[in-house]
Amino acid sequence: MPSTSDSVKVAVRVRPFNQREKNAGSQCIISMQDKTTNIKNPETGDIKSFSYDHSYWSHDGFKETPSGVSEPDGSNYADQKRLFSDLGQGVLDNAWQGYNAALFAYGQTGSGKSYSMIGYGANKGIVPITCEELFKAIDTSSDNKKQLRVFFSMLEIYNEQVRDLIVKEKPPHGGLKIRQNPKSGFYVEGLKQVPVRSYKEIEKLMESGTINRTTAATNMNATSSRSHMVITIRFEQVLVNDAGQSNTRSSDINLVDLAGSERADSTGATGDRLKEGSAINQSLSTLGNVISALADQAMGKTKVLVPYRDSVLTKLLQSALGGNSRTIMIAALSPADINYDETLSTLRYADRAKKIQNKATVNESPTDRLIRELKEENARLMALLKKQGSGDTSGDALSDNDIQRMLEDNQRKMTDMSMSWEQRLEQAKREWERSIQQSEAREEDAAFNHFPYISNVNEDPQLSGVIKHVFTTGCTTIGRAGPGEGAIQLRGLGIQPKHCEIRTDGKKTFITPSSKTAAVFVNGLKIHEKTTLAHQDRLKIGSGSLFLYIGHPCERKDTDVSSFDFDFFMTELAEHDGVSVDIATPRGTDHGVAHDMANRMLFQEFVNLMPKIAEANAISDELKRFTKFEPIVRSESCHDPKGTAPGKEVIVRVLNTKTKKVWIWSTNKFYNRKDLMDELYLKTLDGEHVVLTRDKDPFWDPVEDIFLGSCHIMLQSVSYCAEIDEHFTVHNYHGKEEAVVHVMLLPCNEKGVVIEDDVILEPRDLVGKSINVLCKIPQCMSVRWISDDNSRGVECRFTMPYHKPAKTRDVWHKSYVEFEFKQQYSFRPVTQQILDYLQTNSLVLELWGKQVSEDQQLHQQLHQPNGILNGDSHMDATSDVIGQLKHRESELETLRTDYEQVRKDNFRLKQSLMKCEEKVKLLETRSTSALQRKNSRERAPSVKVSPTHGPPPAGAESEGPHGGLDLEFAKALRDFFRDVETCRTK
Ligand code: ADP
Ligand code: MG
Repeated sequence: MPSTSDSVKVAVRVRPFNQREKNAGSQCIISMQDKTTNIKNPETGDIKSFSYDHSYWSHDGFKETPSGVSEPDGSNYADQKRLFSDLGQGVLDNAWQGYNAALFAYGQTGSGKSYSMIGYGANKGIVPITCEELFKAIDTSSDNKKQLRVFFSMLEIYNEQVRDLIVKEKPPHGGLKIRQNPKSGFYVEGLKQVPVRSYKEIEKLMESGTINRTTAATNMNATSSRSHMVITIRFEQVLVNDAGQSNTRSSDINLVDLAGSERADSTGATGDRLKEGSAINQSLSTLGNVISALADQAMGKTKVLVPYRDSVLTKLLQSALGGNSRTIMIAALSPADINYDETLSTLRYADRAKKIQNKATVNESPTDRLIRELKEENARLMALLKKQGSGDTSGDALSDNDIQRMLEDNQRKMTDMSMSWEQRLEQAKREWERSIQQSEAREEDAAFNHFPYISNVNEDPQLSGVIKHVFTTGCTTIGRAGPGEGAIQLRGLGIQPKHCEIRTDGKKTFITPSSKTAAVFVNGLKIHEKTTLAHQDRLKIGSGSLFLYIGHPCERKDTDVSSFDFDFFMTELAEHDGVSVDIATPRGTDHGVAHDMANRMLFQEFVNLMPKIAEANAISDELKRFTKFEPIVRSESCHDPKGTAPGKEVIVRVLNTKTKKVWIWSTNKFYNRKDLMDELYLKTLDGEHVVLTRDKDPFWDPVEDIFLGSCHIMLQSVSYCAEIDEHFTVHNYHGKEEAVVHVMLLPCNEKGVVIEDDVILEPRDLVGKSINVLCKIPQCMSVRWISDDNSRGVECRFTMPYHKPAKTRDVWHKSYVEFEFKQQYSFRPVTQQILDYLQTNSLVLELWGKQVSEDQQLHQQLHQPNGILNGDSHMDATSDVIGQLKHRESELETLRTDYEQVRKDNFRLKQSLMKCEEKVKLLETRSTSALQRKNSRERAPSVKVSPTHGPPPAGAESEGPHGGLDLEFAKALRDFFRDVETCRTK
């Protein structure tokens, strides 16, 4: 049997910028020369080069023909035709010779995998062109001794479950089973292999497969970016000799559109206690491990275990990956700077894959032998079944059921083989008549030309515009309950049995939500009553089902709907939610919409996260988990002593609305948990009643301390030995007030005795000496964290420069918090470096929220005299009401105490305000006279002054920017404004 050893062929292809990248002014970081692909690190400018079998430049240099085909514009642009002639033609040639072939597309979501494999519109990808060319060759084949047979199958792997995309019905619980045949390896039991006669039939099967994929994705809240699609073309050439014996030469062509590689490894979930959990990523991460192991093997490493069995995908593609197949990988690349990390990792992955060696063998056997082998296999299985029946279960670990199924499968194959090709085609025709008729009906359905309709919009452009619902006249109900006469069934997240209705009268169309709680958005705005729809309106029904409305024919002036893609919907919804590009810009700064990379990356991350957050919230609602997720931009400046650090990242605030516990998750942790939530949701949809222990629950975590906000206390005064005794507002990441904290930094002697009015004029004089300061944090007022839920507590944390981190005690239950914190700090000896630091930095005081665990809370309540349970416990309605009453009472008590304290504070602040006003007046008089003296050029040596003891010596202010008078004046002004601000917040 001829066989050849080949390494996996690897091609990389870079796509044009998408609209979002263009809008953001992205830079292209990929360049190519012949087979070499270079990538530039946008931060350092470093260039890394990789060499592949093909490097395809599809970024620019193309023009569009009137029929919409992209062609090179006299440049080296690689179009779809070129990919086919370089890669697809080889696959076809191999198939004729009887070799198995496989073609994988790898890359992050949106990088162009489906464009290369399937294609869009007139730009057909490798799969359709290959199929088309195969049939062209078959049709022109003049060898009438050969019968040429083509079979088509199409499956999807999501969450380690296999779904036959050709079958409309829902797959059995847990998906189709993977079985192992000792000779041919793993296969999918019961997967339809449809005999096809023409390319047109394949096109229709692919179309209905895409519809099934889209429907499943919306109903199950699954995303195609996490699923793998495998199309298999089986090509058989049956040669009959003069003696009537037949020989079958066969080739399996596996065409694989892989899941987005962005979460290919599990490192993203590092730090999450549930990092091993989800099956959604299993196939992709195993594929990575298999490729690494095979590459190691090819590099001469021995004893490498290739983990094919760890995932469904690698089981099914075992031979395509490291066995009897000629294999090609296309790595799809984004050109944009913001995707540098992902693109680099794709290039490295492709680099590893090219090392893999395969040994392809021609698959050719006499048909009789194939039948004989199947019979022998069946005899072996029957014997095994008998042996197991007699109780001897040693050796093979197959269950009776497994054996039974394998027997049936073999029997089916034998029947297939003994049937004539014509009989098989006839049988397939009968079986698939309905579905093929359906798609024919779709194509010919002229209704879309005469009536308004809605067309689905999916995150994956490949699945957009696939499902359409037309509205003739009258009223159509949309909801979970359908389908039926005048009803459309939509089973996506957050959709009620009767969600909304669409009514059309031949001229106008209206949409009306069926209840107050039925979420319907038109052009990003939530509607509550009957609303007229206009051509190209955007609809969001429930929490994620998106549709574009196409109006009555007379309205359709503009028929180009390509700009209304998923990005458009998301941006519009985000804008109505108050989020826009400047989410990435800190409040109160004049950075504007900075087109720097960090901001663009942040915005991209935020926009990608938004729909996922909405889904998580909807899953929480449907599963009654009382958990609310909210994206927040964490700003490094809140923690930075200068308050200017530009670093920002998106984090997720998680609130259990019932127990009032709060957690902060990194986006990686959120994505990891979201996979687990999706899995949980899928199980629930499957009718499983899932009982989760806390340690497996994606919605639960042990309680943690929460950063509430911070305030910055300028340390300049410390370098002047001037006191600070002020109320500072604690702001959170949104810039909202969380509390007001009273902080004192009092100059003192070494023993901690406060020295009053001993401000110095020239800090430089302190070098070599010492500064002692007493830090007091007496109290914190209006703590929102506690007034929202009085089971909580707070503490302050800070780090005095050149000292260890410190914190106050934790105080609970009252929003007027008495920390009574007191700590002496010494800078001894004072160096110039210390002085510089003090003069240009702030002390960052962070307020942290404390919370008791549910168990502790329960314990406390049980041990109260008339202990009432609340939170997660199962209590009856009466105790629930009593509990709430008690909670309200204690809240009232807290409010009373707070009110009393605020009244006192108010009085004190008013007094200090008056004092400040006096100070300002006094200082104004002083500086005027100082200015006059300066003008008369009087000079005097700088001396230590005490502002309360007479005017400062003349000329002191000319000693530099931090001179005595300037300081005094600035200090008084600052006091004044701070106090005014504090009064305002009251
Ligand atoms: P993926 O399958 O990797 O998620 P897609 O193939 O769906 O990505 O591509 C995302 C978008 O980029 C699509 O709108 C597609 O039309 C466009 N695109 C991808 N590759 C190319 C290319 N080579 N030329 C033109 N447009 C492309
Ligand atoms: Mg895709």
